[in-house]
Amino acid sequence: MEFWIGYLDQALIFAMFAVSLNVLIGYAGIFSIGSAAFGAFGGYSTALVLLGQGMPALPALLIGAVIGGAASLLISGPILKLSAEYVMLMTLSLSILTVTVIVASPQLGSQQGLIGLPLPNFGGSDLLLPSDYVPWLAIFLAVAVAICWIIAESPLGRLLRAAKDDTVAVRSLGKNPLGVQLFTFGVMAAITAFAGGLLVLYNGIAAPSLFSLDQTMLVFAMVIVGGTASLPGSIVGAILIVAVSPVLQQVLKLRPEDSALIRPVVFGLLLILIMRFRPVGLIPERRRVLRPRDATGKGGPSAEEARPTHTGDAAEVAPRKSGERPEPVVVIEGIDKSFGGVHAVRDLSLQLRRGEITALVGPNGAGKSTVFNLITGELRPDAGVVHLGGTDITRWTPERVARAGMVRSFQDLRVFGSLTPLENVVMAGRPHAGENPALLFFAPLRWRRQEREFAKTAAEWLTFVGLDPEIRTATSALSFAQQKQVAFARVLATGAEIFLLDEPLSGIEGSAAEELLALIERMRDLGHTICIVEHSIQAISRLADWGYFMENGTVTAEGRIHDLLADTRLAEAYFGIS
Ligand code: ADP
Ligand code: MG
Repeated sequence: MEFWIGYLDQALIFAMFAVSLNVLIGYAGIFSIGSAAFGAFGGYSTALVLLGQGMPALPALLIGAVIGGAASLLISGPILKLSAEYVMLMTLSLSILTVTVIVASPQLGSQQGLIGLPLPNFGGSDLLLPSDYVPWLAIFLAVAVAICWIIAESPLGRLLRAAKDDTVAVRSLGKNPLGVQLFTFGVMAAITAFAGGLLVLYNGIAAPSLFSLDQTMLVFAMVIVGGTASLPGSIVGAILIVAVSPVLQQVLKLRPEDSALIRPVVFGLLLILIMRFRPVGLIPERRRVLRPRDATGKGGPSAEEARPTHTGDAAEVAPRKSGERPEPVVVIEGIDKSFGGVHAVRDLSLQLRRGEITALVGPNGAGKSTVFNLITGELRPDAGVVHLGGTDITRWTPERVARAGMVRSFQDLRVFGSLTPLENVVMAGRPHAGENPALLFFAPLRWRRQEREFAKTAAEWLTFVGLDPEIRTATSALSFAQQKQVAFARVLATGAEIFLLDEPLSGIEGSAAEELLALIERMRDLGHTICIVEHSIQAISRLADWGYFMENGTVTAEGRIHDLLADTRLAEAYFGIS
């Protein structure tokens, strides 16, 4: 019996490795192969503390966890800015390097490891038999899973998922995901380090073989077999993978040497079978999808009632007088941008005036999208300045520009494909206490109330753009027109004053196009300042007050849109009509 319980202990320890890795892979999209490295940091720190200080096991484990978490922060800053492939390479190198350093360090026991550890003592009693460990390991695993669950299934977890889908889009909503990514990486490293400490205590030795690359690959397999973004899946995956050895030896009666040879084959087969027949894993992700409870509890508001109250300062704008133009809110002077040999934008100046719709028109490749990227901070101009309400914002980050009230939509939408439409729009709610690590853990009532409010507002904006807020499928599964509505609602829900819309009508035809046109008019009527890049001449002549024609990166004509369209040379040049 104790034989099997020994494996149960191992499964509980490895489940901690697996759930923490799963939060990184499944939720945050951080493809770390660093489990062994952080496990080793924790394991060796715990062992050194126990040998040197003779303190009880739990504080030693916690010190190991803190050291593991701190070590992760030293390397995660540079790592998280890299693409997934490089994150894998870097964390893999870290794992190999860690073991190499251990083997080369006599102070760390080299190849033989650190021996002579005292018997672990928890709650006043020494742990002797495998069964003595079970309750403690179960408690530690429960705490680890609870922490992982709070991080993953919360507004913070949603921010991680959104950033996994599209970091640029997250930043365009006024949020920088790097902070929560660093936090998550650090906490998961600490949990991994804690598990590494437990592994050392359980084996009574801190040896390099405990933290080999094989172990990391096993943890990876546990996550894949159990199901990514599924915490119960990782626990089941850990039990299954750990059970392979004892099953080979006890049930199939193989000698230990033979079992060790066959084990990798079984793992390989298991992975192939999962990939082939159940790629989502044994216990697939089952996410609690956000519901617009308050907003639709009483049958939902009509489209007219749905106009949200949240329109920022824009609602106070005076009605437009004909003749005299309102004051400029965005002033761009002489901006310039080259990509290598391509001079995409050259000495371009333009203004967006309060409450007006300004059209930016020009052939493909004229530099219109680049202008948006330059205004909103996605790109830095080589020369020139951008002013927003009198403030120089030329060197601001995208999230800062968005927070100041200027938000853009993307030609290629950039919706968060794996989130529902409602979750996409809730992402625009800001600042969200549930996305702040400290408030997430210590002010649950506050962030839950805020979550309900944001969900209500988001549902109203979805209704406003004509989409059912109850849709519970991933946005990537919707039609292009519906995804466009999601993108619109998301931009609107930021509460920004100024909207930059990049080809909002492209790919939309018929009644859907008509609805979107009416929608942009309603946005203007709410008092927003709008700049629109659009190819459809009907749309522009109906919507725009003022137009800029762009060619080869610079403005070649500007004026009232009807005067511009009346100019036959321009009309021919840009629209091919005569
Ligand atoms: P438009 O939106 O008017 O169709 P763009 O602003 O997308 O035009 O592109 C203007 C020019 O700049 C094109 O020649 C395009 O290939 C180039 N360009 C845009 N973005 C980049 C980039 N990130 N790297 C290199 N070239 C780019
Ligand atoms: Mg473009």
